[in-house]
Amino acid sequence: MQKIPFNRPVVAGREIEHIREAIEGGQLAGDGRFTQLCEDMIAYWTGAQSAHLTHSCTAALEMAALLLDLKPNDEVIMPSFTFVSTANAVALRGATPVFVDIDPKTLNIDPEQVAAAMNEKTRSIWPVHYAGVVADMEAILALAAPREIMVVEDAAQAYGSYRDGRPAGSFGHMAAFSFHETKNVISGEGGVLVANDQNLTLRAEIIREKGTNRRQFFRGAVDKYSWVDIGSSFLPGELVAAFLYGQLEKVNEINQDRTESWNTYHAAFQAAESRGIARPYIDNRCSHNAHMYYLLFPDFDSRTEFIASMRTEDIVTPFHYVPLHSSPMGRRIARTNGELTVTEDISNRLVRLPLYPGMKPQIERIISTAMRNIERILR
Ligand SMILES: *Cc1c(COP(=O)(O)O)cnc(C)c1O
Repeated sequence: MQKIPFNRPVVAGREIEHIREAIEGGQLAGDGRFTQLCEDMIAYWTGAQSAHLTHSCTAALEMAALLLDLKPNDEVIMPSFTFVSTANAVALRGATPVFVDIDPKTLNIDPEQVAAAMNEKTRSIWPVHYAGVVADMEAILALAAPREIMVVEDAAQAYGSYRDGRPAGSFGHMAAFSFHETKNVISGEGGVLVANDQNLTLRAEIIREKGTNRRQFFRGAVDKYSWVDIGSSFLPGELVAAFLYGQLEKVNEINQDRTESWNTYHAAFQAAESRGIARPYIDNRCSHNAHMYYLLFPDFDSRTEFIASMRTEDIVTPFHYVPLHSSPMGRRIARTNGELTVTEDISNRLVRLPLYPGMKPQIERIISTAMRNIERILR
């Protein structure tokens, strides 16, 4: 039987054509025509004031940390149930990630736990839109506003998601998206920082270009360019931007195809609820991009047995984040506020199912294999 991977990166449209055009155009370094096309389209779709293409979401989060001027002793509140890059960006500035628990229904950061963790060292709040479901941004912005604390959305998984009709990336002062090949819209490695503030926009251009005002120079805003701030090289080359532009043109088709598979899973696994399986909670205020389909098993052992039995039938169904507060680095440099019981429990019980564009011919085999294993394991 053919192996079914967890993810399969696919060409969605005119990526190859655009790459050829970029080569023929004679500029392969960053900030050429395709970078501009991508940035314009991203700013348009996210409703953000500006978009700054990066070589990864990790890089975009590092830019956000630089833009916040994070320093030792500063604290940044975030979920422990996230990818390492959320915390690493803060740690690289010598600041302290503060881990709080998530909501058991949405698996997103719990605003009550954010409130409980806030103190005079709190400099920023970094919610993560897990599985492309936008976090409770109104509650988080309401906590941040009175203290003039900036909010950065880790929207790595949320390109094309909305909450109350507003796109992911339009809520926070900044947001970081990923175009890694495991996300919805891809360029192999890739990312973008969006900003919703004029000062952040101007400084982001500088930090992204090695601390120079090169971008302003090319716009004709200054008559020479020089070293004006700290920075690094966060920009991708034009070949990556050309590929990405082909994907961005097809975001609706990509997310629609994923949504159809997501809905097929969701309908099929209703029958597993009588065995003690929980399906993703649907937050009616959120229209998500079908980034991920997961199931929650009753306990760690049944989840582990499920993954192993799916593997023997050549279907890859991975678990997800090992909580960062329990990692060696997290224990050494971070602060954990409160008991992270939901995070630990969810991390032990969650399993992700294959989800990628064009997977529909495989989905019945995945569902029937999964149901058979669930019925055997959870008798
Ligand atoms: C994928 C992901 C990242 C990192 O994205 P890269 O583009 O691989 O750097 C960061 N945070 C979250 C929540 C992610 O899912």
